[in-house]
Amino acid sequence: MELLDIKGIGDVKYKRLLKLDINTVDDLLHYYPYRYFIIKNSDIRKISNNETVIISGSVERHPTITYGARSLKKINFTLLTNEMVFRVSAFNQTYLLHKLFPGLDVVVIGKYYVPNCIVASRIIIGKLNKPKIESIYHLTKDISNKDISNYIEALINTNYKIKSNLPIELIKKYDLLDIDTAIRQIHFPSDIISLKKARIRLKYEELYNYMYGIALLKKSIRTSVFDCSKVFDKNKIESFVNELPFTLTDDQYKSLEEIYVDLRDKKSMYRLLQGDVGSGKTVVAFIACYATILAGFQTSLMAPTELLAIQHYDNACKLFSKVNIKIEILTSKVKLNKKKEVLRLIALGKVDMVIGTHSLIQDNVEFYKLGLVITDEEHRFGVDQRNKLSKKGNMVDILSMSATPIPRTYALTVYNDMDVSSIKTKPSGRRDIVTIIKTTSEMYDVLKMMADELHKKHQIYVVTPAIENDDSVLDNVVNLEKKMQIAFGSYYRVSALHGQMRSEKKEKVLSEFQKGNIDILISTTIIEVGIDVKNASMIVIMGATNFGLSTLHQLRGRVGRGNVQSYCILVCENYCDKLNILIASNDGFVISEYDFNNRGEGDVFGNRQSGDLNFKLVNISRDYKMLVKVKEDVEKMFV
Ligand code: ADP
Ligand code: MG
Repeated sequence: MELLDIKGIGDVKYKRLLKLDINTVDDLLHYYPYRYFIIKNSDIRKISNNETVIISGSVERHPTITYGARSLKKINFTLLTNEMVFRVSAFNQTYLLHKLFPGLDVVVIGKYYVPNCIVASRIIIGKLNKPKIESIYHLTKDISNKDISNYIEALINTNYKIKSNLPIELIKKYDLLDIDTAIRQIHFPSDIISLKKARIRLKYEELYNYMYGIALLKKSIRTSVFDCSKVFDKNKIESFVNELPFTLTDDQYKSLEEIYVDLRDKKSMYRLLQGDVGSGKTVVAFIACYATILAGFQTSLMAPTELLAIQHYDNACKLFSKVNIKIEILTSKVKLNKKKEVLRLIALGKVDMVIGTHSLIQDNVEFYKLGLVITDEEHRFGVDQRNKLSKKGNMVDILSMSATPIPRTYALTVYNDMDVSSIKTKPSGRRDIVTIIKTTSEMYDVLKMMADELHKKHQIYVVTPAIENDDSVLDNVVNLEKKMQIAFGSYYRVSALHGQMRSEKKEKVLSEFQKGNIDILISTTIIEVGIDVKNASMIVIMGATNFGLSTLHQLRGRVGRGNVQSYCILVCENYCDKLNILIASNDGFVISEYDFNNRGEGDVFGNRQSGDLNFKLVNISRDYKMLVKVKEDVEKMFV
């Protein structure tokens, strides 16, 4: 069954779904709500000014439309409840004009202002009897929450068989829901208890797939019959290293030595290269590639985003400019003709190093003699993706890079006995980043600090957690860009970057920033991973409390990459204690330990940005006990 077979999905909506990375009906089924909205009636007698309320009542008179500030259209009507009368207004919902009529039951969700005014963020037609749970999905332009839930409902109501790998023994052992019920409940919860059960079931499934995947990978690596040993001339590597514009740190050397031993060994390498942001993992990985290439093999490096792949490619070209190595890039954006040619050269063994995104694991990529597979920011990839890449050769060594320092106690379980090399020391000459917490009421100070940096001809990142304003008060990228234009636009160049821009545009903006042609870059967290601009000396993070500490630390790692003093400014609505740990420590391990031990709910952005191995529901710190159980279960299957 295809997405286009689902009732309601036509060509236009299909394209929008692809944007959300929903490519198949299974993707759709597993496109879980990122949060839920529980609608229950506010106690009208007790509401105070500025409070978010949910009020059900009936429309008194036909609504009217007026124009608010910046000529935003506003719909207004009067809402009657048994006890009170409210004046309700709502922006951007003028389509309701002809839907609301006197006597109609509606539920209004919004902010209450004394004496009897509600600025509604949502208006739902209907009555409210018992609490209602609404699923909220991440959206993109021209796809509504309603669209997504309609499609899922339509799909569930067909006879499509939902896939599941979880063995029946485990379902019985833990008394889990069946997959059909779980999927239905996670999208359309009938009550909170069923929702919880559904989440537990689907978490088990995720953990099982993950653990099974790495167990399989480990088994195939550890029991491979192929001789993987690579013979290379270390003198050549040494002279290459001596030509580098900097001296390697002790930890970089040490990691390399460990990698050489693995490369020479008959058995495959299965190693994680762990190091804080900016610790210099990439150059270590490139040198490992060089050794492998000297031994007569091809190498490939897979990055989670196109931007990163391009950056790695540019760096590799620079780094290897003096040695005779053929490097190519492969992403979904490479033109078809060029791609064909690159694929041909790879298959013939005429390319030594291929850098790319997920495109690397496509079936049409065939290597002549692949010897080393590297994944950058490995937690961004699913296990099956890593497995796929490593299957592209018989004598493959595996090196994964990660800047998510998972505390040791967890790491052993999570990585299932992978060997680990750590880079703990930072390259010399780096100064610690100065971290400052400011509240939104102190924004003027922040602007002043920004002005100081700009005056020094340094560049600045400004990060915001949201793209579209759903019901959040957070400035979205576009608004923030406008504000920054007003503040700095007459002297400095301000530009914005977010996930929904076309990728050519994204690359253009990023490369302009890299060249120093943009002074202030407003962005969502897409800059979180890997972007390396030495002249950027300040990062301002808006709505900082919405992020997990590890994410904030990763973001902070975007600055302090050269040798000028750098600053990280965390801006939050109200002063927040937990951010102090970021002032106290610049050490990713300390921060992640703290994050792991303290993360309750909190991280609005869920798992995706919290460095959790590409899970949709699982959070390895919160679900650690479950992880351990599943690991044991899976291990039993492999003996
Ligand atoms: P990460 O570990 O976050 O991937 P990178 O490999 O991107 O870090 O390194 C960050 C920056 O530090 C790069 O510009 C890189 O060239 C530089 N770098 C790496 N190793 C050293 C070193 N030993 N001395 C000085 N600069 C280094
Ligand atoms: Mg990196």
